[in-house]
Amino acid sequence: MNLLERELHYTLGDTLPGPGEALEVAPGVRWIRMRLPFALDHINLWLLRDTIDGVEGWTVVDCCISHDAARAQWEQIFETQLQGLPILRVIVTHMHPDHIGLAHWLTEKWNCRLWVSATDFNAARMASHSTTGFGGDRAAAFFASHGLTDPEAIAKVRARSNYYAGLVPRVPDTFRRLLDGMTLDIGGHAWRCIAGYGHAPEHIALHAPRLGLLISGDMVLPRISTNISVYDLEPESDPLALFLTSIQRFDRLPGDTLVLPSHGKPFRGLHARTRQLREHHEARLADVVESCAAQPCHAADLLPVLFKRKLDLHQTTFAMGESIAHLHALWHAGKLQRRADNDGVWRFAP
Ligand SMILES: [Zn+2]
Repeated sequence: MNLLERELHYTLGDTLPGPGEALEVAPGVRWIRMRLPFALDHINLWLLRDTIDGVEGWTVVDCCISHDAARAQWEQIFETQLQGLPILRVIVTHMHPDHIGLAHWLTEKWNCRLWVSATDFNAARMASHSTTGFGGDRAAAFFASHGLTDPEAIAKVRARSNYYAGLVPRVPDTFRRLLDGMTLDIGGHAWRCIAGYGHAPEHIALHAPRLGLLISGDMVLPRISTNISVYDLEPESDPLALFLTSIQRFDRLPGDTLVLPSHGKPFRGLHARTRQLREHHEARLADVVESCAAQPCHAADLLPVLFKRKLDLHQTTFAMGESIAHLHALWHAGKLQRRADNDGVWRFAP
């Protein structure tokens, strides 16, 4: 447990659901934890007892990536954890592969609908057919324009053009649209959609006031800070400002809300966590201003300032996106100016 986590309360202690187990965390709400073959080695999925059109069954929230190992984990859940009832709908918080990867497989298998924001539905459909920010020529050129010069890193980014489609080969053809403020009836309980920006195009978290629960997706995580990146698809974007504005919405929820995050363990301490996230980014922004005041910096210059640990390639691309996000927050706020020098690289200074 790190120092910041001490301010949070993990209500279940170190208890985790076993492989193939759906652990009840509240009446009718079950926690599934699936393995991921990345540095971030797991994702939490949620199974909610539900009745739709008079049929009893389950609503699933998030899906895991499209891998045989994930399908095998689901098969185990189907056999032992559903009490003989069907999956009735698949809700996806956002378009990232660990959340939407198996939506196509699940909805086809159970003949049910995908519920997701329209923005993320379309972004996922596009990304599964092309490359958006995770690799390919455009991503390589984008990172180069922000100072990533290591030829090996650039070559690897360029070669990784199939990253998204490899994890999300298909997205359902149809969907039901989730919008901010919409209330869903899930098993007789009202769950309100809370849109969030900056991490994904239009992330939907779900709040059940009567149950005192928040399915926070990736918008509020207890241990790691949410990835906030600028991608080559939208090269001048300001996702950090969007994220910091978005998490204010969680400050209006009751402080004792039990948060069910996509990574890590369920916790109480929502307001403490949003404050920590704000402080974390404010400190990083201050570091960036200080570095840029000493001499104009590009995003790659700032990697050692923002990230104290050694980064592998996968982490470097995420880190570059994050570094650009911090520069852009300051640029859009008028605290830094940017200039492309003769080498075509954007450098930022007050
Ligand atoms: Zn995500």
